[in-house]
Amino acid sequence: MNRILVAEDEPRIASFLESGLSSNGFVVTVVGDGESAYQYARTGAFDLMVLDLGLPVTDGLTVLRLLRAEKVDLPVVVLTARDSVAETVTGLESGADDYIRKPFGFDELLARVRLRIREPGRAPETTMLRAGDLTLDLRTRRVLLDGGATEVELTAREFALAEAFFRHVDQVLTREQLLSQVWGLDFDPGSNVVEVYVRYLRRKMGGSRIETLRGMGYRLHSLPRPAAGA
Ligand code: CA
Repeated sequence: MNRILVAEDEPRIASFLESGLSSNGFVVTVVGDGESAYQYARTGAFDLMVLDLGLPVTDGLTVLRLLRAEKVDLPVVVLTARDSVAETVTGLESGADDYIRKPFGFDELLARVRLRIREPGRAPETTMLRAGDLTLDLRTRRVLLDGGATEVELTAREFALAEAFFRHVDQVLTREQLLSQVWGLDFDPGSNVVEVYVRYLRRKMGGSRIETLRGMGYRLHSLPRPAAGA
């Protein structure tokens, strides 16, 4: 049974995390300030901490730095409300294993937790997904092109869509599958967000890798294809 420490001061988010993680089989302890987070995290009683950076008493970054200075190697996924690349980088440099930006979908959080949780005896999950010469780095959420020579930054939504494609290389994914995996089932089925975001990914990963199959869906190819119309 995996034990998760949730350090989050907003009651609504804390209870959302607690009920979601509990129903997925985790034992959850919630604390609402940084000092408690620090004290609980050092006990060694947890397998992962979800740490909000904006906490009262002691902020999350300070908690993280204190823990890492004491060589506490508890896996930490930080939550940040601020859409700040600098803060994300600071978090990772301060010893966070992963991060997630608010607002987030529960599936997104669960995926990060499962990726990072300490499980004795289990090989660490892969952090790199490949499609031929393209690589998706799950840790930095970047796509590596040209055999790693070029790194391209993805937004949270682009990354989620890219991850869906990279987990099903050379397979057709329907628009509905992508909507439910990336946007959640409650998304308006008439929306054209999938088309819009596929276009964003093509701009970043090269136009010909993601094929549109009219009336069926989309496919990420492991091999480069001739440009459209060629
Ligand atoms: Ca907060």
